[in-house]
Amino acid sequence: MTLYLACWTRPSWGTLNYMVPFIVSAREQHGVTSAEDYLAKHAAFLDKKAKTGARFAVHDSAVEVTAWVGFNEWLVQCECGAGNATDPAWGLACCYGCGAIHRLVTFPDDPAAIERALVARVKPSDRHWLPTESVDDLLAQNADASPGVLVGVSNVLE
Ligand SMILES: [Zn+2]
Repeated sequence: MTLYLACWTRPSWGTLNYMVPFIVSAREQHGVTSAEDYLAKHAAFLDKKAKTGARFAVHDSAVEVTAWVGFNEWLVQCECGAGNATDPAWGLACCYGCGAIHRLVTFPDDPAAIERALVARVKPSDRHWLPTESVDDLLAQNADASPGVLVGVSNVLE
């Protein structure tokens, strides 16, 4: 009987605090500390990948890409379709799929303001921003959010 009761007793999900007070960037995604470190780690990864026979081409991409935040991470969309981690301080994104190196990355004028508005959302899975949205848009989404409802996710999934 005790075991049965234990199965039905669980913590309240409403009291969880995820404690991720930042937006993930290439720093966390690839374990690098600088743009130079990111380029070196990208090159080392692709050296190993080449030994598997995988096809890719290391190249400086001529395509301008715009950074956005999806599920708590700064990203760009590579021309190959992959999402590549970036960092507002570096203006760089490397594709571990096709080998592209993106140096023409556009960020919002005040990425820290975007991050502050998003970090106000407890769940990292609710933190999304598209370049078409202002900080005021994010704050309005925060104010309108209902408990348990993903905030801003429809913008990412459309
Ligand atoms: Zn790519």
